[in-house]
Amino acid sequence: MIAPVLPTYNRAPLAFVEGRGSWLVAEDGRRFLDLGAGIAVNALGHAAPELVETISAQAAKLWHVSNLYRIPEQEALAQALVDATFADTVFFTNSGTEAMELAVKMARKYWYGKEDRSEIVAFHGAFHGRSSAAIAASGSEKMVKGFGPLLPGFVQVPFDEMPSLEAITPATAAVIIEPAQGEGGIRIASDAFLKALRAKCDETGALLIFDEVQCGMGRTGKLFAHEWVGVTPDIMMVAKGIGGGFPLGAVLATEAAAAGMVAGTHGSTYGGNPLGCAVGGKVMQIVSDPAFLAEVGRKAALFRQGLEGLVASHPDVFEAVRGQGLLLGIKCRKPAGDVVQAGYDQQLLTVAAADNVIRLLPALNIPDEDIAEALSRLDRAAASLG
Ligand code: PLP
Repeated sequence: MIAPVLPTYNRAPLAFVEGRGSWLVAEDGRRFLDLGAGIAVNALGHAAPELVETISAQAAKLWHVSNLYRIPEQEALAQALVDATFADTVFFTNSGTEAMELAVKMARKYWYGKEDRSEIVAFHGAFHGRSSAAIAASGSEKMVKGFGPLLPGFVQVPFDEMPSLEAITPATAAVIIEPAQGEGGIRIASDAFLKALRAKCDETGALLIFDEVQCGMGRTGKLFAHEWVGVTPDIMMVAKGIGGGFPLGAVLATEAAAAGMVAGTHGSTYGGNPLGCAVGGKVMQIVSDPAFLAEVGRKAALFRQGLEGLVASHPDVFEAVRGQGLLLGIKCRKPAGDVVQAGYDQQLLTVAAADNVIRLLPALNIPDEDIAEALSRLDRAAASLG
């Protein structure tokens, strides 16, 4: 008999009832150190006091009004994002997938009535969500099998390889890329590749879309990962960390790229409601502070140094450390699923990714002592597999 919850996940037999900072408490009272953070969502840890205060105050005032009206909390967050980035304008969604849908619509609408361009170039190993457009963009057999006919107009080329740029032509509407792939196995695009990609898009007129759903909002130690390279996109998708646990996403765009999105071309019932944007505004205020981002960088260096040590001391289990900032991964020699399981046995949560990688995506404000504790639990987990 099918479970009441549609069984699309292979769930671990763990249920959590409470969270504080980087720790989760299971139903049976056991405390787990959380290096998954809801897959890069709980940017400020669980039950961050500033967010509890913000959401409680907003909940007591106004949860939801329609986008038929002005929403001051939404306007404030949009302004903060515009002030901090390349973007001139923002649309709020409830998830990364919805941000993907709008990014694709926006790019195609940009060309509508001008040139016959609809093709979108994406990359092997990409993950942009599970909607029809998102799975068509990723093209991975696992995600698309049985869900055809696929949305047409997407092609996939190898990630971070210069010959891939040849797929971008004057017929390309847009190129979509995660500057750092998360689900794909914590693969960071090289500076040279992202610079060449921007140049190729400029040359052909194709719009450049960055998917920073997982790698954005301070995760790499800059507010957005592309800042490390110094190139900007025309359109950017954000989600996960921006809500700190509240379902919130956004599409940021330049005025030119957004030119087709006039009144009536897109909408969302919940996207950008007062509750979500109050929380997002507080997250943005905290995470965009240069001192906070510098701390992310310091913590990341500390964590990474420890991980390099673990790779050296468990060469049969671990192969190499990957990542940027607190978007960390370990390429494993043992099956990544076994390493995640060994972590559970040590009351440590990590997340498997493609390419036999485990992901470590802690809260951006994880205390140094929790980093030390995570390293010793990971050491014990590896020893149990060695
Ligand atoms: N894009 C990237 C890079 C992601 O990592 C994800 C989710 O893991 C998505 C898009 C989809 O976001 P959501 O699950 O919020 O719809």
